Amino acid sequence: MANIVAIVGRPNVGKSTLFNRLTESRKAIVDDFSGVTRDRHYEMAEWIGKKFTVVDTGGFVHGSDDIFEEAIREQVHLAIEEASVILFMVDVTTGITDLDDEIADLLRRSSKPVYVVANKVDHARRTHESAEFYAFGLGEVYNISSVTGSGTGELLDEVVSHFPEEKEEEEEIPLPKLAIVGRPNVGKSSLTNALLGKDRNIVTDIAGTTRDSIRIHYNQFGNEFLLIDTAGLRRKSKVNEDIEFYSVMRTIKALEDSDVVILMLDANDGIESQDINIFHLAEKNKKGVMIVVNKWDTIEKDHKTTKEFETRIREKIAPFTDVPIIFTSVTEKQRIYKVVEKAMEVYANKTKKIPTSKLNDIMLEVIQNYPPPAIKGKYIKVKYITQIAGRSPMFAFFCNLPQYIKDPYKRFIENKLREHFDFNGVPIQIFFRQK
Ligand code: GDP
Ligand code: GDP
Repeated sequence: MANIVAIVGRPNVGKSTLFNRLTESRKAIVDDFSGVTRDRHYEMAEWIGKKFTVVDTGGFVHGSDDIFEEAIREQVHLAIEEASVILFMVDVTTGITDLDDEIADLLRRSSKPVYVVANKVDHARRTHESAEFYAFGLGEVYNISSVTGSGTGELLDEVVSHFPEEKEEEEEIPLPKLAIVGRPNVGKSSLTNALLGKDRNIVTDIAGTTRDSIRIHYNQFGNEFLLIDTAGLRRKSKVNEDIEFYSVMRTIKALEDSDVVILMLDANDGIESQDINIFHLAEKNKKGVMIVVNKWDTIEKDHKTTKEFETRIREKIAPFTDVPIIFTSVTEKQRIYKVVEKAMEVYANKTKKIPTSKLNDIMLEVIQNYPPPAIKGKYIKVKYITQIAGRSPMFAFFCNLPQYIKDPYKRFIENKLREHFDFNGVPIQIFFRQK
């Protein structure tokens, strides 16, 4: 089950500031390299070893003033339906407003855990001022300052208490789990239907009971896997399903439940910031990932078109560019089984174990030929390397002075690992450890 924390509240209370604080350490890494957009409204966070996705619902509220408040109510409704925990943020410097009261009314009817978060409590003086928020009748009020970070630790302790301990391998069904994700209308359901044909052997596992998605058992042409399908889950209420927030929540759930994410694009639109956000989330969650450029039949092509498309996509997803990109037409049935094959290859890459002797033979030689630069006259000596057991590839390089290894050298090592052992489509982690 996906752990989703939604921050709700009226504008300017500090939702996006808190969002950035909870997710900043992680996003800094990728942004610094690639200059990816910062307009992310959902991102992975981690507290005391528990991972979850934070959603800034304010980021999904667009529109002019008159439809604005309605849009906020809509986000709150969706958060109540889709999130695991809700943070209701209010502003201690303004006190309770009418819109706060309205939001509180909606939240009181929810059965989801709700935390009242009094923000902008920057100094002790303001602590007593937040007492008025007990009037919402939503229980404890958590005083925080999103700017300084004070109070956020206590809040997070409570929030993650709702999430189960991560188990090493909780696999009840040891089959690869694939999820087709992407923006509306790119062709996800068409691909699902084309693959499954009429033999939809549905592993019934309906939402509301234990999980947020349906798993469809696929077993054809020598490939067996579970296709994670959230699109099939229809909402009961009348609210428009195509709104961005809703499709994002479904995407997060499918992604977290899968091993390999098949990110589908429409060739006519190329890769857009929402796609990059999904890609990034898959990478952060250490999922296998591949990109499918669909509706290739609608593109006018010459001999360079594919290459140009590919180059543009790889520029946008940097620095993690070692991923398969496949061009399909679902309607013309072009390369749809190639998608399955590639996804299975990515899964194999993600789960494989490199023999220790081979790993050391190759990588110690690489390091010998291009050792880490000496720092202050001290030489770094790598003694041996092991692959650490886990859900995605991790490598420990044991050496005398791990603290002297800088990021460029880590990237060099990562590239060499990718060059010598196929990790196409798989995020890998490298640690330098004391020996
Ligand atoms: P959102 O509209 O709810 O996402 O609010 P923002 O995160 O954009 O914040 C609105 C304003 O409040 C910005 O000017 C922030 O710098 C400010 N702000 C956010 N958190 C705090 C805080 O803890 N203390 C103070 N003093 N200002 C804050
Ligand atoms: P979803 O919202 O991502 O599930 O997208 P759908 O599978 O519902 O497809 C949206 C529309 O795109 C439908 O009208 C499909 O027939 C059309 N479509 C899907 N794949 C292709 C394709 O490869 N080529 C063309 N020309 N149209 C496609």
